[in-house]
Amino acid sequence: MKKKTFVYVCLGSCGAVVSERRYKAGLKKCGAESCNMHGSPLAKREVID
Ligand SMILES: [Zn+2]
Repeated sequence: MKKKTFVYVCLGSCGAVVSERRYKAGLKKCGAESCNMHGSPLAKREVID
């Protein structure tokens, strides 16, 4: 059975990948202070597997 899953990614220099579970728990922005997109919203990506 196929289930769609998503991750949330930072498009800046840190390249962070956040699980949907952590995103829903409140991690909706890049938190890496050294990142050039620190504080920017994460982008939703579908996971194909
Ligand atoms: Zn970042």
